[in-house]
Parts: sequence; structure tokens; C-alpha cells
Amino acid sequence: MSAEPQAAPGHVDAQGALAIDVQCKNCAYNLRGLREDGRCPECGTPIGLSTRGDLLCYANPDWLDKVALGLKIILYMVVVSIIVGGLAVVLAKLLSPMFARSLSFLASLISFYGVWLMTEPDPGGIGEDPNITARKVVRISLVVGLVSQPVQALMAVGSPRRGVAMILVAIIIAATLVGLVGEFAKFIYYERLARRIPDEMLAKRARFLKWALTITLGIFGIIGGIMVLARGLAPGSAAALPAVGALGCLVFPALIALVVFSIMTVTLLVRLRRAISEQARVARSTWAAAVNPAAPQT
Ligand SMILES: [Zn+2]
Repeated sequence: MSAEPQAAPGHVDAQGALAIDVQCKNCAYNLRGLREDGRCPECGTPIGLSTRGDLLCYANPDWLDKVALGLKIILYMVVVSIIVGGLAVVLAKLLSPMFARSLSFLASLISFYGVWLMTEPDPGGIGEDPNITARKVVRISLVVGLVSQPVQALMAVGSPRRGVAMILVAIIIAATLVGLVGEFAKFIYYERLARRIPDEMLAKRARFLKWALTITLGIFGIIGGIMVLARGLAPGSAAALPAVGALGCLVFPALIALVVFSIMTVTLLVRLRRAISEQARVARSTWAAAVNPAAPQT
């Protein structure tokens, strides 16, 4: 095996004990004051694994596998939702609305699982702000999005009384806003992962799409919201029509922007997933070698 990675100077004191706060990469235990050639008193992971910095190739490989699997599920669900969306248009007459709705709910459950896996906390505690993290914002918005689905179904199924409709619309607007914040937070999370690869190009792309895609989705949210309000509050009223017509001019450029930025996002996720799987492989062999130094290297 090649030379042991060296800790930064000033990392350890004269006795060889860690002189700064270092969290165990496996359980986030503070290893300060312990010797670098020892093991974590909490979980037994070699301390040397935790003193090499924040790069993903030194992170817990099991966690990296989860993140990569989450990204894979998200990407698959993008493909599935395009196919299902296309089929739904073709088969609209054959499928009952209830069945179509159940299908889309099932798809969002699977996506939910993918995003949840992707945002598993790093067991090494890296990127975990004591207050709130992008990761947690993504998860909160995910739950809100799932819970708001039945409300949207209610809106679509019947034409409830005006008072009820107002409440439902308010809930949908709130859920849409939370969803936008969640999209924004996802890109912050992607950017952080990209920096830990490290891949500055991917990080830049994530930073660009953070604004580009969120603003485009926001425009669609506003258009959709005004449409619903116009239809729900003044059904059949001619007064609402000019506003809807003016919005129509916005829809086409927004649609083009949405397609372009969505393709860019899928490309970003494909590259990110590939890079993280690669880092997981490297991390696994590093960890295997550190936990069991006698084992032959592959
Ligand atoms: Zn530990």
C-alpha cells in the first residue's frame, strides 16, 4: 500500500493526538484529543479515515451509494414521467381520471423515495449546519408536495363551493411556493456535492440552474395560479379573458425555457450520479483497506 495520507500540519499535537475538532466520518463523534492511528470510541472506525478532508472519495461509502441510488431513481422517474405523460395524452379516453391520478401518485411516491435517499445526511456530519440545511429544506418541501396532492385532486374532481375553493386555492399556492423553495434548495445541495467531488464545472452548472429553472417554474406557477383564479372565481366571466390572453404570450417562451433548462438539469444529474458512483467505489476501497489493513488491495 502507498504512503499513509498525512494530516495537515498543526492537525495533531506533540503527543500525536488530534488538536482540532474532527468528526468521525461514520458517526460524527468528535475525535479531538484522540490519536490518529486509533479507532473511533463510538463505532470503531479507524480515525485515520476521518482526518482526510471533506472530499467524497473519503466519505462513508454506504452513504455515497445511497446518494447515487437516489439520483438514479430520480433520473428513472424523469423518464417514466415523460412516458406516462405521453401515454396519458394518447390514452386519455381509455383511462379513468381516477386511475390516471393513482398512477401519477404512485410515480410521485417513487420519486419521493429517490429524493429522500439522495438527501440522507452524511454520517460524517459534513454540511450539517446547526440551524437548517439545503438538505432538510428539500425534504420538508418533498413532504409538503406529497401531502398537497390530494388537495389538488379535490380541485380537479369537483367544483366545490366558493369558500371551500378559496381555501383549496390558498393551500395549492402555498404548496407551490414551498415546492419552488425546495427546487432551489435541491440545486444548492447538488452544488455542494459537486464541490466535494470536486468538479467546479458541475458546481457552476448547478448554480446557474438554481436560478434559471426555479424562475422558469415560478413563472409557470404564476400563470397557472392566475388561470385557476380566473376560472374558479369568475367562471365564464368575460372580464377574466383579457388577462388570460395576455398570459398566453408568456407561455410559449416560458415553455421553451422549461424544456431547455430541464434537459440541462437531467444532464447535470446524469453527470453527478456518475461522478458520485465513481467516488463511492474509491471510498469503498479506501475504507476496506483502512478497516482491514491485512486484506489484499484490489
Ligand atoms: Zn465513529
